[in-house]
Amino acid sequence: MNKQQGPKRSPIRPDYLVILIIILLAVGMYFFFTQMMQPGVVNYDEPGLIEAINDGKIATIRSEYVGGDNYNLWEITGTFTEGNKPEGYGSFTIILFGDRLDNLYDVISLYNEANPSTPVKLNFVPHVTVDFWNIITTILLVAAPIVLVIIMFRSMSSQSNRAQDFTKNRAKVSRGKQVKFADVAGADEEKAEMVELIDFLKNPKKYTDMGARVPKGVLLVGQPGTGKTLLAKAVAGEADVPFFSISGSDFVELYVGVGASRVRDLFKVAKQNAPCIIFIDEIDAVGRQRGAGMGGGNDEREQTLNQLLVEMDGFSGNLGIIIMAATNRPDVLDPALLRPGRFDRQITMQVPDQKSREEILKVHARSKKLDPSIKFSEIAMRIPGFTGADIENLLNEAALLAARENRTVISLQDIDEAADRVTMGPAKKSRKYTPNEKKMVAYHEAGHAVIGLKVNSASVVQKVTIVPRGRAGGYALYTPVEEKFNYSKSELIAMITSALGGRVAEEIVFDDVTTGAYDDFKRATKLARSMVTEYGMSDLGPIQYESDSGNVFLGRDYLKDKNFSDAVALEIDKEVRSIITECYTNARNVINEHRDLLDNIAKYLILVETLTKSDIDEIASTGKLLWWDNREVNSDAHENSK
Ligand code: ADP
Ligand code: MG
Ligand code: ZN
Repeated sequence: MNKQQGPKRSPIRPDYLVILIIILLAVGMYFFFTQMMQPGVVNYDEPGLIEAINDGKIATIRSEYVGGDNYNLWEITGTFTEGNKPEGYGSFTIILFGDRLDNLYDVISLYNEANPSTPVKLNFVPHVTVDFWNIITTILLVAAPIVLVIIMFRSMSSQSNRAQDFTKNRAKVSRGKQVKFADVAGADEEKAEMVELIDFLKNPKKYTDMGARVPKGVLLVGQPGTGKTLLAKAVAGEADVPFFSISGSDFVELYVGVGASRVRDLFKVAKQNAPCIIFIDEIDAVGRQRGAGMGGGNDEREQTLNQLLVEMDGFSGNLGIIIMAATNRPDVLDPALLRPGRFDRQITMQVPDQKSREEILKVHARSKKLDPSIKFSEIAMRIPGFTGADIENLLNEAALLAARENRTVISLQDIDEAADRVTMGPAKKSRKYTPNEKKMVAYHEAGHAVIGLKVNSASVVQKVTIVPRGRAGGYALYTPVEEKFNYSKSELIAMITSALGGRVAEEIVFDDVTTGAYDDFKRATKLARSMVTEYGMSDLGPIQYESDSGNVFLGRDYLKDKNFSDAVALEIDKEVRSIITECYTNARNVINEHRDLLDNIAKYLILVETLTKSDIDEIASTGKLLWWDNREVNSDAHENSK
C-alpha cells in the first residue's frame, strides 16, 4: 500500500477526453454539413426524374459538380415533397452530363411557372471534394485553436504542480520486500539495541499506557558500507512497518524554504502512516552545525535543520514514529540534534572483524553458488578491513568472474582475484595490510592491552582490535574507559603509561618502531602537559599556567592563554619530559615482565582481530581462547597456529 501517492496524479486524462470530444465533434460537423440529411437514396434515371418533377413529387434539387474533363459531370440530389417519398427513402440521386443538365433546368422552370405556389427549389452547390484531406482540414481548423488553448493551460497548471511537487518530501516508502535481521550479519550488539524499538513499533500502546517515553531518534554512525541503511531497513522489516527513507541532501535545494517544507511534509505523511520509521540518510548534509562556515552560514540549510528540530519536538513519542538517521560524520552534527528527545541514541556500526566478516560472507553466499570446499573463515582472513558492502561486492565480482568463464561454481581463486580487484581499487588501497604489518599492529595493540591488565589503576581495556578504521587513517584500537571527569594523579600516570604501551611493545618485539603510535604520543603528551600546567600535579607546584576552554578528555583542541615566562616554559617542558620518560620506563618493565601474555594476546589478535574484555581476561588467565580454538578444530581443518 502506498497511501502517499495517488490522488493528485490524474489531470492528464480529462485533457485527452476533451481532445477526443473535439475530434468527434469536428467529424460530426463535417458530415452534418456535407451530407446533410441523407437518410436514404433512391436512384433515378433522367426520364424518371423529369416525370417525377412533372408529377410534383420533387421538392428540392441540388446539383453538384463531381468531375469530368469539361466540367460536365454532375450529381443531382434532391428531396421529395410531403407524401411522395418512396418507402424508406429520403432523397434521390442521379449523375448527369452537362448537356442533359440544361434539359433538367428547362423542365424545372416550366414546372415552377405552372406551380408557383409549390416550386421545386433549385440549388447549385459549389464544388466540394469529399476526401480524406478535407476531413483533416476541417478537424484542424476546428480543433487546433482549442487544443492550443488546452496545451497552454495544461503546461501552466503542470508547472504549478511541479512547484508543488518540489516542496513535497522525496521520501521513498518501501514495504515490499522486507529486510530482516537475518540479513544483517555480525552486528549482534547493534541488533540487540534495536529490539526494544521494534517492540515499541509493533505495539506503541503498551508503552504509552505505561507512560514510558520511548526514544524518538536513533543515530547510526559508521563508515560507508557498514550496514547502517541495512540495519534501519531491517528494523522496519522486523517491526513490519512502513519505511520512509530520504537522504539529507534531498532536503537541500536551490530554493529557500523548500527544504523546510519538505521536512514538514515528510512528517505529515509519516504521521498518517504511523507506526512507521523515518530514515534520514547522510543527515550531516542537513544537520551540520549551525552558524558554521564562511559568510554567515547557509540560511537554507539552517532553516531546514530548524524545521527538522521543530518537527522532532512536535510529536509525542506515542505516535509510534521512530526517526533513524545515518552519518559517517557525527562530529560535524549540530549539537541540538543530539539532545534528549531528538537523536538521543547513538549506535556505532563497526567495520566488521574476522568473525563478523565470516557471517556477512555467509549471508551473501546464500544467493551464490560457491565451491563447497571453500571455508568462509579463510576468506574472511584474507580481507581485513572490508566492510559489509565490500564483502557483498567481493562475492559479486567473484560470481562475475566465474560466470565469464562459464563455470558453474565460484572457486577460491575467483574470490582471491576479486579480493585483489576490490582492494586495489583506489579507495581501499590504504586499508590493505601485509602480514608483517598485521603482526606489528597486533603487537602494538597487545602492548596497550598488557598495560591495561597489569598496571594498577590503569583503565580497563574493553576491547582490542586491529581492524583498520579508515577515517582515523590508522588502526584504532582499544575502546577505553568509562567517561569520567575527575582523575587522580595515579590514574593519569597509568593512562599515559598505557598510551605508550603500544610503542614499547613494538620496540621490544621488533626492535623497530612504526608511525602507528602517532596518536598515542599526542595523547600522552597532552595528558602530561595538562598534569603540569593545569592540574598542578608536578614539582612546579599547584599553579595553573594554562587554562583550557575545552576538555582534554573529550579530545577537543583548545586555545591556551600563555601566562608564564620562557624560563617557566622550559621548566614545564622538563617536567613533561620527565613524566613521559618515567611512564615509558614503567611500560617497558611491565611488558618485559609479561612478555608471554603479550605474545599470546598478539597471536589471538592476528587470528581473531577483535578481542573483547572477556576474551582478554581468558587469555590472561588461561593462555587460551576456548571458543576460538574449539571452533578452529570443528569447522576448519587447516592449521592456523604459527
Ligand atoms: P551504509 O548505509 O552504512 O553505507 P549499507 O547499509 O548501504 O551501508 O550497506 C551496503 C550493503 O552492504 C548492504 O546492502 C549489504 O548488502 C552489505 N552489508 C553491509 N553490512 C552488512 C551486514 N552486517 N550484513 C550483511 N550485509 C551487509
Ligand atoms: Mg547508506
Ligand atoms: Zn596505540
